[in-house]
Order: sequence, then C-alpha cells, then structure tokens
Amino acid sequence: MNPLARDLSVAFPKLRASDDAADRVAYARDMWPRHHLAVRAGHPAEHRPGAIVWPTSTDDVARLVRWARSRGVALVPFGAGSGVCAGVLPRGDVVIVDLKRMGRIRTLDPRTPLVEVEAGHMGVPLERALGRSGFTLGHFPSSILCSTVGGWVATRSAGQCSGAYGKIEDMVVALECVTGCGDVVALARRTSAPDLVPLVVGSEGTMAIVTSATLRLHPAPTSRGFGAWSFPTTRHGWDSVRAMFQEGLRPAVARLYDPFDAMLVRHAGARAGTSPARPRAPGMGGAALRAILRRPGAINELLHSNVVGRALGGATLLVVFESADASMPPLAVDRARTICESRRGSWLGEAPARGWLERRYSVSYRQAPIFANGAFVDTMEVAARWSKLGDLYEGVRRALGPDVVVTAHFSHAYPDGCCIYFSFAGSASPELVAKIGWDAACEATYDRAWRSALGAAIEAGGTLSHHHGVGRSKAPRLPAALGAGVDVVRALMRAFDPGGILNPGALVPTTMSTSTSMSTSTSTSSTPASTNASTNANLLIDRESLLARMDGMTDLSDAEGWLNEAGLTLDLSLPSGPLTVAAWLGRGAPGARDRLLDPVDQLVAGLDATLADGRSLSLHPAPRRAVGPDLTALFVGGHGRFGRIDAVWLRVHRRDVLRPTAPPFVRDRDPAPNAGERALLDAIARGL
Ligand SMILES: Cc1cc2nc3c(=O)[nH]c(=O)nc-3n(C[C@H](O)[C@H](O)[C@H](O)COP(=O)(O)OP(=O)(O)OC[C@H]3O[C@@H](n4cnc5c(N)ncnc54)[C@H](O)[C@@H]3O)c2cc1C
Repeated sequence: MNPLARDLSVAFPKLRASDDAADRVAYARDMWPRHHLAVRAGHPAEHRPGAIVWPTSTDDVARLVRWARSRGVALVPFGAGSGVCAGVLPRGDVVIVDLKRMGRIRTLDPRTPLVEVEAGHMGVPLERALGRSGFTLGHFPSSILCSTVGGWVATRSAGQCSGAYGKIEDMVVALECVTGCGDVVALARRTSAPDLVPLVVGSEGTMAIVTSATLRLHPAPTSRGFGAWSFPTTRHGWDSVRAMFQEGLRPAVARLYDPFDAMLVRHAGARAGTSPARPRAPGMGGAALRAILRRPGAINELLHSNVVGRALGGATLLVVFESADASMPPLAVDRARTICESRRGSWLGEAPARGWLERRYSVSYRQAPIFANGAFVDTMEVAARWSKLGDLYEGVRRALGPDVVVTAHFSHAYPDGCCIYFSFAGSASPELVAKIGWDAACEATYDRAWRSALGAAIEAGGTLSHHHGVGRSKAPRLPAALGAGVDVVRALMRAFDPGGILNPGALVPTTMSTSTSMSTSTSTSSTPASTNASTNANLLIDRESLLARMDGMTDLSDAEGWLNEAGLTLDLSLPSGPLTVAAWLGRGAPGARDRLLDPVDQLVAGLDATLADGRSLSLHPAPRRAVGPDLTALFVGGHGRFGRIDAVWLRVHRRDVLRPTAPPFVRDRDPAPNAGERALLDAIARGL
C-alpha cells in the first residue's frame, strides 16, 4: 500500500479505499478523446491517482475533505468518468472521491413534484425509479448509461429532450454539497436574494463536492408526436426551428442535421434496420479511412457545397413532441408542419423521428473502430444566439476544414438561440508525419483543429461550450471566453475552497494573468447583431434572437414602452414608480414571470457589469453555456453587493405569442438564506 492510501485507511478504517493497480488505471482519466490517442500510441493511464475512496454518506465526504485539507491532499470528485474534457486527470498525490456509493433517492415528493437524489445515482436507474412513480426528470444525455447526477450538475449537462425540460441547470432547485473547508451546506434557488446554486452548478468539482441534488420533475409523458422534414439548405431548417421556439412550441427533441450529417444518419438508420449490432473489426477499412481523411480540406469543400448538399438530400429536421396530455403532440406536430412547409421544408413522415428515438443511445459510443484504424473522432458543442448562428456555423467549419472532415447537427434550441454540435474525424497531417511520426502527428493535428475551432467559435460570438464543460482541455481558452470573468471564477473558488484542494487544474487556466484577453470578451459582448433594429441609444433589439440590450440606467417603464412600439414586451407586472433596469434586476426582477414556468426560457442572456473593485466584466449573450459558474447570478438578486449592472441582454417576447406553461410545480421561490449560504456570500464579497 502506498503512503497516501495507508494514511487514508488509517484515518477512515470503515471506508472502502484502494491503491490497487487496476483501480488506479481505471481512474486515471475520463473519456476525453485525446486520451484515446495516447492509449493507441502505447501510453495508457499516464495520470494515475494515488488512491481511490468510496464515501457512502455526506458525513463521510465532509470528514474526507477536512482530512485532505489538513494534509494539503488534492481530491478529485468522480461520477462515472464519462466527461469528455479532461475534467478528471489526476496525479500520484491525488485521491479520487468516487460518489457512486452515494446513490440513494432520499425523497420523492409527488405533490411538488421533486426528487432529492444523491450525487452518485446513475442516469438510467434514476429515470426508471421516477417512471415507476409516474414522473420523469426529462434529462436524457446520450451518456445516460454511464453518467451520474453529480457529474451532470458539475458539468451543466444537456439531455436529448432539452427542448421541453431544459438543461440540468433548469432542473436543480437545491443542492447539498461539501465545500473545500469540509462544511456541509444546503443551497436553495431563490429569486430576490443572491442565488448560490448557479455558481456551484458547472463548477466541475473545483468549488464543492455535490452530495445530493433536489430536482424538479414532470409527469411522465403518455403520448408522443413525431415529424421529419428535409430542407434545401441547413439555414432553412434552423429558421424553422427558431420559428417553432419563438412561436411557443416546445418540441422535446428538435435535431437538424446538415446535409452530410443527414446522409450519415440515414445510412446508420438503414444499417440498424438490417443488421443491428455489427461493429467493424478493428483495422478493417483503416487504409481507406486514412486515405479519405488525408485531404480533409478538399472533402469539406465538396461536401458543403450547395450542389452536393442538394444531391445528398438536403438538411433533415427531426422533431419529437411529448406530453402527459394526449391532445398536445398531434396539435404541435400540425403547427410545426405549417412552420416548416412555409420555409421550404418537405414532409418526410414520422418514421425518421421514430427511428431516431429507438436508436437514441446507439451512436455516441461508436468511437473505438475509428481510433483503432489510426484516425480520431471528436465532437464540439457550442451555442450562439440566433442572429450569430450562421457566423458560428460557417466560422467553425472554416476553422476545422483544413484539418478534419466536419459535419454538424443543431440540437438544444431555445427561443433566443441554439447549440451546434460539430462532429469531426481526422488523421495525422501528412506534412507532420514525416517530421514527428504518426502518433505525434495525430495529436498535433487534433490539437490544432481544436485550437482553431474554439478560437473561431469565440470570434463568432459563440460559447466555449454548451454542455460538455471546460475541464482541462478548454481551460486555456477560458480567458478569451470570459475575460475578467476568469478572475471572478477564481475568487469563487477561493471562497468555497480556500486551500485549493478540489480538482486543482480543472476549469481555469493554471497561469494567473487574464489581462491580455479581457478585451476579447468585451468586443463580442457589445457588438450589435446585423439584424438588430436599434430603437434608441439605450435600447438595441436583436429581433432575430428576441433579445434586447439595454443600459442599466434605463427606466424599466421606458424600456417596456419602447419595446411595445416594436411589437415586443418584457412581459412583466411593472412595479409602480420609476425604477432602473439595473435596480430592478438587483432586486431579483420582481414582477417578471416565474422562469420555472418555461424551463427553456431565460430572463438574462448576458450582461456587462462593473465589479466592486472597478474591473469590468462582460458576459456576451448566449442561450445557455457550460463555461463554469453562471456569473449573472452574482448580479440578478444581488442587490448590488458584488458590483453594478451597466448593461444587460434581456429576453423579449412577441406580444402576439402566448407563452408556454409547463405543468404546475410547488416550491418556495424565496427561502431565507441559511447560515452556510450567508457565510459563503460573505467570503465571496471579501474575495471579489
Ligand atoms: C458517449 C458519450 C455521450 C455523451 N453525451 C452527452 C450528452 O448528451 N449530454 C451531455 O451533457 N454530456 C454528454 N457526455 C459528456 C458526459 O457524459 C457528461 O459531461 C456527464 O455530465 C459527466 O457525468 P459523469 O458522472 O460521468 O462525471 P465525471 O466524468 O465523473 O466528472 C465530470 C466532472 O464533474 C466533476 N464531478 C463529478 N461528480 C461530481 C460531484 N458529485 N461533485 C462535484 N463535482 C463532480 C468531476 O470532477 C469532473 O470535473 C457524453 C459523454 C460520452 C462519453
């Protein structure tokens, strides 16, 4: 037994702990595809932890953290290791804390309806248990077979049905977690005081270990409606998806495949229909695959031309509506059909969407044969408001084009924007192979593709990630995405984990300075979209995205009046008397419609703020992001304690559209902050 494991077992004789060689290999990494390249090159498990421990209760976790802090030992929380961004990359002096023995459902209250579930609960058994009581969480990531509740919360995960139920951050109403000091804190969502939950959600194990989550439930659907359309171009398809969400439709699933991806999906469907489980043997077809991937630039150009796009059958959109009210899905499909057909969509019937639902988990796991054949494959999920979506799509494709063959589908849509999921495959760049050999050339090509693609996404006004998170793979790009926000994230980490023992090295770059990149973020934030119709100097409307940017000092009633002139509204009960937008948000936006009534909608898409010490923070508008804590939570309901809102991007609504309403949900929206929350808020205020 190594000294770390020995120390651990002396301190916790009743806890299962291991430094077994096989365990240390198993916990040396997550599913970051770059690890697969290292394994293929003969370097498996280069980052083995010193020990692994399996706590069974919150008290175990708290005692473990206190022990680790007293010895300066780093801890890495571990769910199921399905993360794809190197969120788990330990060293020999690190202890992995595997939460899977904490997998109980503590309470399931059908009246509210809410479930409190421990962090180590796996996805599929959770949905089964909820289904037996007539409920669904509505969270179905493709990795549902191999991921945990704690991992979802820590990474801001998105499931396939996000169009109806939102992302995991839209489901969490309370968290229990253990801070880096070993304190157990209960955090509740609230509106009119600072809300700490959105700060821990997405913190990727760097601020606290999540031990349980209280999640909002929905009645399990009893009826579904399916539809599929083909479009001459991908843009016609996303215009249809945008119209659906902006007209109040909430398809649980809306997946738009660009022409090349649509062709691959059809092919996979046809193969599944005839011979379900027939993966190719490793090595088979390797030479052909490598030859194709040697000239990605030419292939991309060919595949993405309009002529070939049409020859491939155009873009394909699949939608699935679901509800516990049987009358809803058929009506919704009819409305979706009208929207699509008015945008040159041709009805393909129900079968493609039904087929997708049957095979919904089968695609993502088929990476191994590509790696075995000397190539690599990966995915990148980024989001932007609708008016920037074209720039994001073109910019990222252009950036990836020289190195890898790229396809894309659009899923996870919102009234104000959408996520694009790029899939790409590549191999060693021929000019590099001669200089550094096959394996190193593969890694270099892989790294170059990612670097250019993330740069292009940020340049286009997109996010660094929509639902996979940052980990260590994207941490070096965080300053370009968040600017001074990186220092705010570091301050949050210090407040929650002063000893810096929780997952060090994840989420933020290891070097301290962010000054060079601060301006990058500011520039994307304040750039008006090309489609904006500016009504006056204090208000800028991005009609395509149904967002309005307004100065913090604008009077709220004035803003509503100007929006009304443009046929739009903030849709709120206006408080009596003058009130600036900044002051209204600082109080938690009283009078605004409860955001829980529509999980995919949001009030604040982005903001510019001045921190208490005078630094500027700029969060450019995005429908959702998985880029660490949601820093807007420091300002909305923050009563100005952490800084001043200078400008804000708010969701605006068409006056002629009835806003959708999810099934009823009972929860105290404003519980008084408890002692633990107050202490954390004080620590944040001191550190900012
Ligand atoms: C085939 C495949 C398909 C995928 N599809 C999707 C998808 O559809 N949607 C999606 O969102 N993601 C998807 N992913 C990514 C991945 O499944 C998610 O990021 C998932 O949320 C990770 O959960 P996990 O339990 O495996 O976490 P892990 O990989 O174990 O950990 C991820 C990060 O969270 C931290 N962490 C884990 N548990 C806790 C805790 N209790 N407290 C604090 N920090 C914690 C870890 O330290 C790490 O930084 C996919 C991955 C694969 C391999």
